[in-house]
Amino acid sequence: MKAKVSTEWLSGCSGCHIAVVDLHEKLLNLVDSIEFVRIPVLMDVRDYPKADIGLVEGAIRSDHDREAVLKMRESVDKLVAFGTCASYGGVSGLGWLYKDDAILSKVYGGLPTTTETERPQGAPVLEHSVIPIDEVVEVDVHLPGCPPHPYYIAQAIKVLLGEEGAVMPAGTVCSQCNRKMVKREGVAFKKGAVTAPEKDICFLSQGVICLGSVTLERCRAQCTNKGVTCAGCTGPSIAVVTEPHLDIRSMVAKRMSLLTDIDENEILDYMAKEAKTFYSYALSSPVVYKKPTVEIREWVGEK
Ligand code: SF4
Ligand code: SF4
Ligand code: SF4
Repeated sequence: MKAKVSTEWLSGCSGCHIAVVDLHEKLLNLVDSIEFVRIPVLMDVRDYPKADIGLVEGAIRSDHDREAVLKMRESVDKLVAFGTCASYGGVSGLGWLYKDDAILSKVYGGLPTTTETERPQGAPVLEHSVIPIDEVVEVDVHLPGCPPHPYYIAQAIKVLLGEEGAVMPAGTVCSQCNRKMVKREGVAFKKGAVTAPEKDICFLSQGVICLGSVTLERCRAQCTNKGVTCAGCTGPSIAVVTEPHLDIRSMVAKRMSLLTDIDENEILDYMAKEAKTFYSYALSSPVVYKKPTVEIREWVGEK
């Protein structure tokens, strides 16, 4: 019998759902084992049919999202936080830095039919922040990725179906990166760079910040192997998530300084100044903002 799969789309961009459609031949291989009973981008199903596996895209931002995720949890046996928004708040987690009223006023204030404090009918009722789904419901598998890589979508479904040999590795992006970390002297710190000339050498060794060593590998290192630094879109590594004292900024600064002799404090200061960039995928997640070493609101100057 085929396993039933149900999906839901909360506050996200739909990119995670498009990734399911992008499974191509992997989806064809899976259709012998699964059947979609609900998938908002392909089917007009409004209720929540019973299913074996539920994939939830997006974070909880509104009362509608909260209600939807609770219904998903009730209707499925195994629930997957599908994508970085569902797992860590994702890029829309930047909303964590601002008060709800400020966000609503920015969007709805001063329209021809509204005043600064008036909201049009149908405007969302916001939660206090951008909330990863495991803050509200129990999650069986986190599958971060922006969007998740098709290889790992198929892997996660196989793991949940109990397929022999299917595993989700726990390494960092470096584990799949073809670049070599080497010690260099006299390397200049290239602030703002996202690439570097030597294609076989680690970006850190070339004075360019790469987040691969603090990021969970769920993408086959597709950026660094194609010439661009890792921006951390699959969220923090297992070490960062599980060790309260480990922080993205201090770990990268230490490693880069050891490889290049660039002053560690210079890297730390730069990463604090650019915190909106270096923490952009998991800013609203307690695994990041509750770190004792992290003062993100202070760094970005927001309240
Ligand atoms: S994880 Fe990325 S692709 Fe998925 S909903 Fe969020 S922003 Fe879109
Ligand atoms: S830090 Fe970046 S460039 Fe260096 S090995 Fe890791 S993923 Fe590759
Ligand atoms: S290399 Fe980094 S930024 Fe690129 S897809 Fe992988 S995790 Fe995301």
